[in-house]
This record gives sequence, C-alpha cells and structure tokens, in this order.
Amino acid sequence: MSHTTDIVIIGAGIVGLCTAMQLHRSGGVRVTVLEQSPAPGAGSSGASSAVCRHLYTYQEMINLARDGIDIYRHWQDFTGLEEPRARFNDVGVVWIGGNEPQRDAQRLQRHGIPANVLDAATFAERFPSLSTCKLAPDFETGKAHVCEPTDAFLCEESGGFMDPQNALDDLTAALTDAAGVELRFSATVERIEHDDAGVRGVRLASGESISCAIVLNASGPWCNRLLAPFEFAARWPLEPTRIQVLHLPVPTEMTARMPVCGDFTSGVYFRPQGVGQLIAGSTLEADEQETIANPDEYDRFADNDFKMIKMHALKHRVPSLSDHTRIGSYCGLYTVNRADMHPLVGATPVDGLFAANGFSGHGFKLGPAVGSLLARAIDGARSGFDTEVDLDFLSWDREPLHLDTMNVLA
Ligand SMILES: Cc1cc2nc3c(=O)[nH]c(=O)nc-3n(C[C@H](O)[C@H](O)[C@H](O)COP(=O)(O)OP(=O)(O)OC[C@H]3O[C@@H](n4cnc5c(N)ncnc54)[C@H](O)[C@@H]3O)c2cc1C
Repeated sequence: MSHTTDIVIIGAGIVGLCTAMQLHRSGGVRVTVLEQSPAPGAGSSGASSAVCRHLYTYQEMINLARDGIDIYRHWQDFTGLEEPRARFNDVGVVWIGGNEPQRDAQRLQRHGIPANVLDAATFAERFPSLSTCKLAPDFETGKAHVCEPTDAFLCEESGGFMDPQNALDDLTAALTDAAGVELRFSATVERIEHDDAGVRGVRLASGESISCAIVLNASGPWCNRLLAPFEFAARWPLEPTRIQVLHLPVPTEMTARMPVCGDFTSGVYFRPQGVGQLIAGSTLEADEQETIANPDEYDRFADNDFKMIKMHALKHRVPSLSDHTRIGSYCGLYTVNRADMHPLVGATPVDGLFAANGFSGHGFKLGPAVGSLLARAIDGARSGFDTEVDLDFLSWDREPLHLDTMNVLA
C-alpha cells in the first residue's frame, strides 16, 4: 500500500505536534504525523517535568524559551480548543545559590523577561516553605548543618511549568480531523527513503510506503535509528539518556505557594505537581550520564542512592517535609547532545530532510517556538506565534557552542 502527502512528521512529541500545529495554522499543505505508540506521550515529552524557565547562557535560547513559554500562556489561542486540558502554571522560578543573580536578572530583563533579585525577607515571605540557606547540605555524613541565609535570590516572575501530558493530548485533539492533517498512531517509520536528489518518502514497519518531498525527523530518543544512514548526523553525539524523577506527597498548603525551585547549592530542582504533590530531579551533569543503547529498554524507577541524596537535598531546602514521606519515582529518556547540550534543528544537507533532535533537558519549553521555526523553514509562511530567533543558531552545520556548564542548565 502507498499514498502521497506533502510533509511527513515522524514523532508525536511536543516538537512534532507543535510543528504540525503551525503548518496547519498557515494552511495549504498536507501533513501526515506518524507516531509509533498507540497514544501521545511515549517519548521524552510525556515524562517531562516541563519546567519553563528562561535562564540560559545564550541569548537565542533565552528568546526561544520566552517565545515557547508565551505560546503556553496563550494555549487556548494556539490550539484553537475551547477548553484545553493543559494550562500554564504561572508560579515563578526561583534560583538559589547562583553566582551572579543581579547580572542574570538584568540579562533576562533585557529580553523582556520580568526577573527580580529577592532579599531573604521577601523570599521567606513569598515562599514560606523554603529555606534561605546558601550552604550545601552535608551529603557525606547526612548530618544537618548550621544554615546561613543568603540575601540574593533570582526570581523569574514569568516562569513556571506546563502540564506535559495534557498539552500533548490537547495538540492531538486539535489536530485530529484538522484540515490537511493526518495524525496516525501505532505507525512506526522504519526508514526515510531518499536518493541523490533528496527525500522520496518514508517506509513503515508495516510495509506501507508514503511518498513525500519533505520529512521531519522529530523522533526524540529514537532519532539515531532513522539518522544512522545519513553522514551529516555522524558528527553529533546524540545520546538517549536515562533521567530520574522523584515524586512525593506534601501538605496542600505547601504546594499552594511553591514556585519552581532550582537549587544550585545541592543540584536539585523541584516543583509542585497538582495539589499536594511535589516532583524533584537533578541539575547535575553527573546525573545525565547514563546513556541508553535501546530506548525501548531502560530501568523505569529511580536508583536508591539517587533517592537518598535528592531527599536529603530536598529536606534541607524544604525543612518541613516529613521524614516519613512515601517517595515514588519514574524515569524518562532525553537525547543529550554531548557536543554542546543544545538541540539541532532545521534543514539538513539532504534535500527535503529536516530534523529536530538532541533537545537534552530543554525541549519542552522550547518545543512550541521550535515548531514555529521549523514550520516557517518548511513552508516559508508566517502564521502568528512566530519567533524571530535565527534558525542558523541551532543548525546541523554549526560548530558546537562554547559552554562553561555541560548540563541541563547550559
Ligand atoms: C524526566 C525528564 C524531565 C524533563 N524536564 C524538562 C523540563 O523541566 N523542561 C524542559 O523544557 N524539558 C524537559 N525535558 C526535556 C523535554 O521533555 C524533551 O527535550 C522534549 O520533550 C523532546 O520532545 P520531542 O518531541 O523532540 O521528543 P519526544 O517527546 O521523545 O517525541 C518523539 C516521538 O517520536 C516517536 N517515535 C520515535 N521513533 C519513531 C518512529 N521510527 N516512527 C514513529 N514514531 C517514532 C516516539 O514514540 C515519541 O512519541 C525533560 C525530559 C525528561 C525525560
């Protein structure tokens, strides 16, 4: 069996779906989205903590984050749904123990992002469950220390988090039966068909072929399977990496006034999850090292030592956490670009082949803006929710970016 379309998008994660949404919004092209799983959310996006912050090393990333988060803020308009299930949780993002909060606040402000430096009294008043200590907890002996308050907390007032699975479900609902869009689940792409002239289409595991002149590879941690035949991809080390997340119940009054918190002193981040729950993960390079050979097979629960260390850090930052909390955990994969932690997005040297891979821990907030960039690169149209960031910044033929930190905070 075979049929023809204009554009095939491989993967119904946040990147593939947002790109399809933008192509649909500008109209005039037939788009087929192929997803190997029976429902959206099987990849990085479904497991994402979906923290939406703006603090990045490069100004292009700050702007992409800002423009992506802006789409989440206007989710109803973007999706066209009367009652979307997801909403942007506007709780702010605070950073504790950063080197230069004043300079970082000014840097963000220059990009139109409301950011303040809070003193300890203001911080304690706004976020009463969080300690103001500037010291790392003692991970060697597990003992408590004498806390020393810090007096400068960077607060991204317009940061927060998105509700990842509901956002994917919203996009799926918006694209189902949308004019010009075909969204197919349980449809695994086996290979991208091409010859010397460029892309010819895709071949599915079922044996079906789809002819098209444009393919977008947005297949998340599975990307290397499809990129393997292409020489241009070989220079980028894209490694599916196991990422651990803890979840635990907390008193409801605690989540009501809890921001997203990035704690540089102990390498933990956490955020509220619904009412009366908190999720927590790591900001450390050491916790982004477990490369997974087969993205279909990895340990889905966190390691005991990870739990112990992160709980110690959490208890230090949120002193009223109970010592007898039931800790749950899960793991997801994201594709770390070991060369520079930044994604590769856009046209490739193969005519008609676009790819957006290696998002590391950044892709959920960037997804909608990257979708806009890709849609514009593919069909040349502008359709609202555009971003002015230059696509060359993340191009496949760029040199690796220079970075001081090779971790999720790059
Ligand atoms: C635990 C965790 C925490 C995170 N926290 C954050 C955060 O706080 N903030 C943030 O911005 N980002 C975060 N991220 C990163 C972010 O979630 C990812 O960068 C982003 O979701 C990548 O989206 P994607 O669409 O590229 O990939 P995915 O969501 O993985 O989507 C790819 C899709 O392609 C499908 N697919 C693969 N191969 C094929 C094939 N051959 N045929 C058909 N379909 C195929 C997959 O099934 C999958 O559904 C986190 C990720 C994880 C795992």
